[in-house]
Amino acid sequence: MKASKMLIATLKETPNEAVISSHILLLRAGFIRKLVAGVYNYLPLGLRTLHKIENIIREEMDKKDCLEILSSAVQPKELWVESGRWFKYGPELMRLKDRHDREFCLGPTHEEIFTDLIRSELKSKKNLPMNIYQIQTKYRDEFRPRFGLMRSREFIMKDAYSFDLNNEGLDKSYMQMHDAYCKIFDRFGLNYKIVLADTGAIGGTGSHQFMALSDVGESDIIYCDKCGYAADQEKAESKVDLYKTDEEILDVEEVYTPNQKSIEEVSSFLGVNAKDVVKSLLYKDYINDRLILVMVRGDRNVNEIKVVNHLNIAEHEMVLATEKDIESIGSIEGFVSPVGLKDITVLVDEEVSLMKNIVVGANKKDYHLKNVNFNRDFTGSVGQFRNTEEGDLCPICGQPLKNERGIEVGQIFKLGTKYSEPMGCTYQDDDGKLKPMVMGCYGIGVTRTMSSIIEQNHDEFGIKWPLNVAPYHCVIVPISFKDEVQKQVAISMYEELKAKGVEVILDDRDERPGFKFKDWELIGIPYIITVGRKANEGIVEFKVRATNIKEEKTIEEAKNIVVTAVNEL
Ligand code: ATP
Ligand code: MG
Repeated sequence: MKASKMLIATLKETPNEAVISSHILLLRAGFIRKLVAGVYNYLPLGLRTLHKIENIIREEMDKKDCLEILSSAVQPKELWVESGRWFKYGPELMRLKDRHDREFCLGPTHEEIFTDLIRSELKSKKNLPMNIYQIQTKYRDEFRPRFGLMRSREFIMKDAYSFDLNNEGLDKSYMQMHDAYCKIFDRFGLNYKIVLADTGAIGGTGSHQFMALSDVGESDIIYCDKCGYAADQEKAESKVDLYKTDEEILDVEEVYTPNQKSIEEVSSFLGVNAKDVVKSLLYKDYINDRLILVMVRGDRNVNEIKVVNHLNIAEHEMVLATEKDIESIGSIEGFVSPVGLKDITVLVDEEVSLMKNIVVGANKKDYHLKNVNFNRDFTGSVGQFRNTEEGDLCPICGQPLKNERGIEVGQIFKLGTKYSEPMGCTYQDDDGKLKPMVMGCYGIGVTRTMSSIIEQNHDEFGIKWPLNVAPYHCVIVPISFKDEVQKQVAISMYEELKAKGVEVILDDRDERPGFKFKDWELIGIPYIITVGRKANEGIVEFKVRATNIKEEKTIEEAKNIVVTAVNEL
């Protein structure tokens, strides 16, 4: 491709809207342009890289005998009612009506569609197991779309769905996908961790996430160096800290705490450790119209995912209670506790249930209670409702846990019969009975992966694409295209590399060399060959973008390096 014919849409300045490197660089290098919040157009360079990422994913899926299809983004409401998700999914689901008032959604994921497809097309158990997938556009009305392709409202996902006879079959299919995902993310050269995950709105019985490690990641990974335990913050557990469990139980004492509401205020006012003042947070479950009080130690944070999982409701169905809600149960903001309250559901973190003589609110203005004890003064369901933090002890081996940030690039789920049962996706067994197929589902955020590769491969000058996903492999930059020798050397290298299957650009633009180099470094072309004054001696300058090492090479050497690298892909 000649540069003069390309749409090189590079930007000198960082657009205001972008804060993280991948977003800035995708815009500045002219790979994407924003249409509206969370919705992007892919320009020619962006689309080339996107296709390469998709093809690597496709190759690895095909190696596992998965079958590719393509379904519509438009999904009828009826299928979502069948699965029970039409009312459960919440505000992220983009819903629409046609002119006849029929309701639809734009698919955020495709469990219903694939289950429906298989229940009508697959009749014999001989065809199981089967794994079908697509690479297709998804829609989620994210509350806060941000970071470019990282969290957009329209994005491309590879989603696969496996159908098996039984749980043993599912375990095998799941492991096949686990293996395929490792191969895929290895081929992208990503530094990633595989972690235990919560199943969220997709549901099911088990799940792992693939996390590209990065400080800009929105996921918290909790892991153990010693035994290899690793989990997403939403799922991570820890051993109970036996703090304040070994004391003699004392009598409850009401203490005057004027205007002391926060844990810090109350603990310093009473001269006790912040851990001793238990946090009691009141939530509202507005689907079941009830109030939920969650108690964690003073230095802990409530893990709302663990709470909604315990209550078996969706995340968006629970919100923090308002002042009015608090007053409706006879308490007051800043002084809430379960002591003496009726008609609320109380969830007690296991640490709190074991602690002796804790401090809680007195449900009356400016008063707290000291020496409150579980089972004597209040009760509730006990579970792990706290966030696991760095330094907590590994639930498996007891070593201190560590924490790292990650970008969720993929997730795999054991669905079991969550969709096949309500939707009647069955096979006839040898005994003549209809049995639900046992399903798994497997997603990769294709566009998010593109951003993650940039997060792990860039410098102050721009992107450093790995060769297998770079929009082009190589660019030839003559210092002066008006110089006949340089022009001839550049054109003949260009033609030869092209003939050997290298995706090569000839920079034939009438611009200053510095201007041209800036573009290619920003765009991240892996090999940059400069044809300058030594062209008449058969010497060019060869730069590897990944390392920024520049060396003089003979024309032959330069061509060989590129051809060999491309052939090895
Ligand atoms: P997140 O927790 O980041 O919102 P999710 O767990 O809801 O993601 P899944 O339902 O597991 O997402 O979807 C499969 C994959 O699709 C994710 O692993 C992620 O890579 C990608 N993905 C999900 N939401 C978005 C989004 N808004 N923009 C870009 N990619 C996304
Ligand atoms: Mg996920």
